[in-house]
Amino acid sequence: MQEISLYIHIPFCERKCNYCAFVSYCVSKEKIDEYVEYLCREIEKRKTDKVVKSIYFGGGTPSLLNGEQFEKIVKAIYDNFDVYDNAEFTIEANPNSITEEILKKWKILRVNRISVGVQSLSDKSLKKIGRLHNKKMALEKIKLARHYFDNVSADLIVGLEDETGKDLRMYARELIALGVKHISCYLLEIYENAPIYKMIQNGQYRPLDDDQTIDSFEKLSRGLVDMGLERYEISNFAYPGYESKHNLNYWQRGDYLGFGVASHSLVDGKRLENPDTFEEYYAGKTKEIVLDKKDEIEEIIMLGLRCKIGVEIAKLEKLGYDITQNEYYKDYVLQGIITTDEQKLYLNPVFYHVSNTIISNLLP
Ligand code: SF4
Repeated sequence: MQEISLYIHIPFCERKCNYCAFVSYCVSKEKIDEYVEYLCREIEKRKTDKVVKSIYFGGGTPSLLNGEQFEKIVKAIYDNFDVYDNAEFTIEANPNSITEEILKKWKILRVNRISVGVQSLSDKSLKKIGRLHNKKMALEKIKLARHYFDNVSADLIVGLEDETGKDLRMYARELIALGVKHISCYLLEIYENAPIYKMIQNGQYRPLDDDQTIDSFEKLSRGLVDMGLERYEISNFAYPGYESKHNLNYWQRGDYLGFGVASHSLVDGKRLENPDTFEEYYAGKTKEIVLDKKDEIEEIIMLGLRCKIGVEIAKLEKLGYDITQNEYYKDYVLQGIITTDEQKLYLNPVFYHVSNTIISNLLP
C-alpha cells in the first residue's frame, strides 16, 4: 500500500511578528472563507489512491480558522482520500487563538497533535518580537491543550536578545512539567524584509551573536536530553514515540502533497510548487519541477544527515553516487564525524552545529 502525507497551508495571522518572513497575511474572515473554497477544490483535484498517514495544518496561524472553516477542509480531505485510523493529525496553534471551544472541535475532527508557537517564556522578549501572548497565557493555553490532547509540542526560538541557554533550559523545563512531549528549537533568522532587520539596524534590538547562539543551543539541547527527550533531528527533540511522523516523512523524502499558497509537494519523484500570491494560486499556476539525479542525491544527504535515521548508502548508489569515494569521507569516518554501519551513514550529533559545512563537503 503506497502512503502519502498531506500538508495544508493556512497563510493568515492576526498580526505579523517582527521576525516573520513566512508567507502569511492579515485579512478578513471573508478572505479566509474564499481561500478555504479554493483549498477544498485543490484537495479534490489532487486526490490519489495513496493512503494518508499524516495530516499537518501549518502556517501562518491555522488556529485562526473558525470551527466551520476547519471542518470544511477536513471534510474535503476525508471525502477525497483514504486516511489511516491512526494517522497523525497535527495543527499548529498560537497561544492567543487556543480556546476550549476550538480544542473540542479539533478533537471531534480527529486532530491528535497540537504544535504550539510558544517561542519564549520571557514577557520582555515576546513583546519585542511582536508576539500576541505573554508567558502566563502560553502556559495556561498549553495546560488547556494538554487537557484535551496527549501529544502537545512547543516551539522555542534560540538567539533572542538577552536569552541565554540557561533561560531556554528553564523554559523547556516549565513546558515539560506541563506535559509537553516534543520541543522544536529554531534559530532566530534575520531576513531583510522582516521588521526586526530595521530594529537591529536602529539599535533597538540586539540578537545573540553566532557564538552565543550556538552556545545557547548546545545548552538547551543538553538540557532537553537530560530531561529524557531524544534529539531525533537537529532542531527537534521528543520523548520516545512522540517524534513528528509528518516531519519524518519529509526527511525520508516520502511522498507528500501540499495544499494552499506557497506549499510544495513531492509525489513519485516530481516536485510541485504553488505560487506565493492568492491571485496566482486561485488561477491554478502550480509549477512542476523535474528533479534530476543530482538534486535527489543532494536532498537525500541533506535531509538524512540532519536526522538520527541517517542516510541509506544504497539509495545513493542507485542514483550513481558512491559516497565512500568522496574526498572528505574517509577523514570524516576516521575522526568520528560521521559513523556508518555499512548500510547507513549518520552524522555524529556532537558536530550538528557545523552540519552545513560537513553536508556540503559530502555532496557530489
Ligand atoms: S505567527 Fe508565525 S507566520 Fe504568523 S506572523 Fe508570526 S511568525 Fe509569521
